[in-house]
Amino acid sequence: MLFGSTREGIFDRTAPEAVLSGIAPDGGLYVPDTIPLLYDAALPDEDYISLATRIFERMLPGYTKEECAGFADGAYRETFAVPNVTPLRKVGSNHVLELFHGPTCAFKDIALCALPLMMAAALRKSSPQRDILILTATSGDTGSAALSGFLHVPGVRIIVFYPEKGVSPVQKAQMVTQDGDNVSVCAIRGDFDDAQRGVKRIFADAAPFSVRLSSANSINIGRLVPQMTYYFMAYNQLIKQGGIKPGDKVSFSVPTGNFGDILAGYLAKRAGLPIARLICATNANDVLKDFLLTGIYDRRRTLKKTLSPSMDILVSSNLERLLFFESGGDAPFVRSCMRSLQSEGRYTVPDRIMNGIRQTFSAGSCGDAEALAVIRDVWQKNHYLIDPHTAAAWKVAQDTRREAEGHPHIVLATASPFKFPRAIGEALDLDVSDTPGAPGELGQKLRLAVPPPLQALAKRTVVHQDVVDVGDMSAYVFRKAALSKW
Ligand SMILES: *Cc1c(COP(=O)(O)O)cnc(C)c1O
Repeated sequence: MLFGSTREGIFDRTAPEAVLSGIAPDGGLYVPDTIPLLYDAALPDEDYISLATRIFERMLPGYTKEECAGFADGAYRETFAVPNVTPLRKVGSNHVLELFHGPTCAFKDIALCALPLMMAAALRKSSPQRDILILTATSGDTGSAALSGFLHVPGVRIIVFYPEKGVSPVQKAQMVTQDGDNVSVCAIRGDFDDAQRGVKRIFADAAPFSVRLSSANSINIGRLVPQMTYYFMAYNQLIKQGGIKPGDKVSFSVPTGNFGDILAGYLAKRAGLPIARLICATNANDVLKDFLLTGIYDRRRTLKKTLSPSMDILVSSNLERLLFFESGGDAPFVRSCMRSLQSEGRYTVPDRIMNGIRQTFSAGSCGDAEALAVIRDVWQKNHYLIDPHTAAAWKVAQDTRREAEGHPHIVLATASPFKFPRAIGEALDLDVSDTPGAPGELGQKLRLAVPPPLQALAKRTVVHQDVVDVGDMSAYVFRKAALSKW
């Protein structure tokens, strides 16, 4: 199996090469030339690490068996608060897949615990041997998960840029208290888009840097593959819990932003997992919902700030991969869509392709008021707390129940509710502060155990205080790259 760009369709890259470069030189995303059969009805008892190892081996050939076992072991043995990594719970009429038991309490940990190990291994295979500097712009959850994942990885350093006023106190505390001699965090005077543009500009004129630059965001195939694992794991757990028999179909409802998580589900389906429907849940920024309903992707609208910030996004990068697969690998078609998105802010996908997409995908959106009502309702009926992202998936799962034709629903819970104490406070009419101590306050009020990484936040020391103007980001990186030790 080799990898190629969605905009070129020539498959000549190995998995480690694709992982190292992140994005293809033509701006396209790396996709594999084939998707192997990974669903094995004879293995319902496989543990998380064995399953992840098997998926890495088959999806990322180019790494050795031993390397793949090392990625899975390094990423998932004892780094998550529960041994089966992503437990499945019955809550009311849904099944909730808890993806937030990692070091920073959001689902991005699952991929960002593995990706750094994959990068370090790819670096060892590459020549010339140069250190890697990861640059990441974050609106919240990616930053802390990436810092935690790349901490102490040899040969790799990371700088995270975040908008000074654009992240929550909990998210900020998670980043600025992250100690470690290969990690650096810097606020920028601007919003998330400024930070993102600044990082892209640095990549575009990377020539003067002594290190190799790379990115940890979800366009990297090394983030997508680890996310396939929990779809299989959820299915196997549902069999064990008596919810389905092997071979029965299930539907997954996924809170969606950059379309990475749900695309991993799509890859799992193509790899044989019996999936009826993948339900794409958005918040008030419902570009994706409109696209799935109309076939027109139109980003020409204003971004709204919502209670589910990780879904506040207008351009969902990973949709490009879906277009590639569903058009039968038509790279010129993908290229023309992306060119049109760039120049006109929109593109239209013909019915013939949309019909195929709609055989798998359903869509719906959930506004803030609805999300708060869902959080309240689920708490009152089941004494179970969900975060605002998960609430969107829950609500859209209810809305699309008919389309799922009676197959069990698995709702992906992408963040611990304690990461978003203000929204929970609002939903349950509780008085919680807007400080790093808020998760602890919430735990006390509800008599629930707070995840230790969030409980300890208020007591941790701030170690990163840098703030720069957007125009100075490049100089900042240059200065940092030149230092032999941070
Ligand atoms: C990143 C994130 C999402 C969106 O995932 P995508 O892969 O970008 O679609 C949803 N919920 C939470 C809590 C997140 O951090």
